[in-house]
Amino acid sequence: MPLQFYNTLGRRLDTFEPVNPGEVRMYTCGPTVYDRAHIGNFRTFIWEDMLRRYLRHSGFRVTQVMNVTDVDDRTIKAAIESGQTLAVEKTFFDDWEVLGLETVEHNPRATDHVDGMIELVRRLESAGLTYERDGSIYFAIDRFPGYGRLIDLDPAELKPGERVEGDEEYSKENPRDFVLWKGGARDVEGQVAVWDSPWGSGRPGWHLECSAMAMEFLGEQLDIHTGGVDNIFPHHVNEMAQSEAVTGKSFARYWLHAAHLLVDGGKMSKSLGNFHTVASLVERGARPSAIRYLLLSAHYRTQLNFTLEGLAAAEKAVERLSEFKKRLQDVTADSASSKESTGAQDAVDAWKAAFHKAMDEDLGVSGALGATFDLVREGNAALDEGRLDLSGAELILGALDRFDSVFGVLALREREDRTVNPDLAAWVEDRIQARAQARIDRDFAAADAIRTELDERGIVLEDTASETRWKLRRDADLDAFDPAAQKS
Ligand code: AMP
Ligand code: ZN
Repeated sequence: MPLQFYNTLGRRLDTFEPVNPGEVRMYTCGPTVYDRAHIGNFRTFIWEDMLRRYLRHSGFRVTQVMNVTDVDDRTIKAAIESGQTLAVEKTFFDDWEVLGLETVEHNPRATDHVDGMIELVRRLESAGLTYERDGSIYFAIDRFPGYGRLIDLDPAELKPGERVEGDEEYSKENPRDFVLWKGGARDVEGQVAVWDSPWGSGRPGWHLECSAMAMEFLGEQLDIHTGGVDNIFPHHVNEMAQSEAVTGKSFARYWLHAAHLLVDGGKMSKSLGNFHTVASLVERGARPSAIRYLLLSAHYRTQLNFTLEGLAAAEKAVERLSEFKKRLQDVTADSASSKESTGAQDAVDAWKAAFHKAMDEDLGVSGALGATFDLVREGNAALDEGRLDLSGAELILGALDRFDSVFGVLALREREDRTVNPDLAAWVEDRIQARAQARIDRDFAAADAIRTELDERGIVLEDTASETRWKLRRDADLDAFDPAAQKS
């Protein structure tokens, strides 16, 4: 089956065919850096990360652009009040890294691309699609027949008088006309909020930035444009209209939108105490791998309800995958030498077929995860019965690697195990060395004492034929660990 995506444009499942074979140009609406991103935002970003990973997994080269909105009204307000946008942007990319998202090819800031936006307004103006009111420039939707094509919107049905964009609407020809250039009314001292333009000082409208940056980095025609459902209208409708009005070409072939994340069945809110950020969850002991797994585990077009119970279940699921991987890694050339690895190839082939079938159909994660846990169950049974030899184990490890190149949870889990706390890790490695030496010296009492000492801190040792691994029990008290106190 070919790769298919549900396209908001046309509202149907479309076979994916990029403009240039083998190459995908993808634009993602990025964060507004006026306030810290929450896990809802990250549901959308992680899904977009999985999309790019799956495209690569399917053999495409991917160039992805995700902008940073540092110029919209809210951002400017926050910047003025606290000078915080850079700090918020940094925190955003810290969270990004914690959740194991890949670095995308381009992360332009809107404020660095105002010239390109001015150029677009100029081109729209020469095409006769704009008008000026009180120093601001508007896009006249009635003059562009393609307006609203993304969602089958009929401009004639948009009733004049309907409140759309606050006070500005009273002076517009049509209340749905949107601003391309905001006249310098809100001139704010010392802030990057005002630029010179042929229409006087001011700043670009929000929709304009994505058109300008998408075209600057990806050209006039993109393959995929993504965002959350709240972006569809007016943002993507307007972005599409102004881009197509400038180029006369269709802007993006596939428009993909993720449904929202709910928390405890409703909207996240600070007053309900269920407003979660990546950092707030990690502070209360959540593993990033579990957050990532949970956010990926439901189909992107269905709402996902986030609960702490769901997070605990996600942690168990990742744990199961990770334990399975460790068991496979423990299989050595002689650990099952008398057995043969029947079935491993069949199981991996079945996994591969089911995984791709599910993912090819609009990223069907449930089917993909189901197939992967079938493989875990069969593999564990084969291990229990001593039916798996080294080559069989390696085949299955290969499948797990392929799984994780798309889902990215095992890599995170392994990173967590290694780096929960670098001081702690160094200390544990040191104790493991001391224990190994004690065993070489046949001082088993000392070796056992070290194991007990670690165990009391929630650190569990696992001896394999070649090495000693360690992991943290869930109740491990990392706060109680003070490296200075261990130096003695
Ligand atoms: P913003 O910073 O508000 O522009 O949002 C960044 C991204 O997160 C956009 O793609 C939004 O569509 C998306 N988003 C916002 N709220 C949620 C939510 N509750 N669940 C999922 N995605 C969201
Ligand atoms: Zn955008």
